[in-house]
Amino acid sequence: MLTEKIALVTGASRGIGREIAKTLAGLGATVIINYNGSEASANAVLEEITRAGGSGACYQCNVADHDKVKEMITWIVKTYKRLDIVVNNAGITKDTLMMGMSEADFDSVININLKGTFNCIKHAVRPMLKQRSGRIVNISSVVGRAGNAGQANYAASKAGVIGLTMSAAKELGSRGITVNAVAPGFIATEMTDALTEDQKAAILKNIPLQTLGTTKDVADTVAFLVSDEARYITGQTISVDGGLYMG
Ligand code: NAP
Repeated sequence: MLTEKIALVTGASRGIGREIAKTLAGLGATVIINYNGSEASANAVLEEITRAGGSGACYQCNVADHDKVKEMITWIVKTYKRLDIVVNNAGITKDTLMMGMSEADFDSVININLKGTFNCIKHAVRPMLKQRSGRIVNISSVVGRAGNAGQANYAASKAGVIGLTMSAAKELGSRGITVNAVAPGFIATEMTDALTEDQKAAILKNIPLQTLGTTKDVADTVAFLVSDEARYITGQTISVDGGLYMG
């Protein structure tokens, strides 16, 4: 159980983040639902959580903005007096082959997916160091381990998240803070809705478990990594991909 834990989930208005927020709240955590543009969806997540007896709050913040992230974490600590769990889930894709990839499309994906994760870890670490405890989970991707044509920006950002995770785990382990990554494969969300049926069929051929994953598959893995039972696990990247990548 996560009773009395304060958890921040970035990009929790939709998809995987929404499921993670609901799962952690269901286990008793107070969850801050971060979002960037989807205010109504974030409010709907909070409503679902409170209707089920849980608690939380919504907070708008672009995770790529270093100073705004600092403000968000300061607000959380001022309001709740602590911060126990950070799940860096916010992410975007801007796919195209490298020859046609604009500098802006490369930069925005790196800034949100990788720098956004750095921003949240950096500012969350201060209260966690004081508490001498904390759980950080970063959402990477199978693409960060295996690469993917048309996703150079996204793959670089997600591979970067794995390096960031290992470095943070080494820096923070002596203070009781664990840092792990989860690498989902193809999960049924709005992000994968953008794939054509042909693309989906080609992907399924390479998945030993022969199905797309669900947001719950990812959320349950995150719930384990932030639990007391995962106290001796840090610096790891856990694949949730039906066996797509075995490295
Ligand atoms: P999604 O449905 O597109 O949702 C993305 C979430 O990120 C939304 O809540 C969005 O909020 C938020 N977000 C985007 N830019 C943001 C920013 N600058 N600041 C704060 N929040 C921001 O995506 P998803 O499929 O659930 O993916 C979630 C994570 O899992 C991502 O990191 C993604 O790379 C990773 N992942 C997904 C899959 C998959 O198959 N779906 C596979 C591997 C990894 P707003 O709408 O409010 O902007």
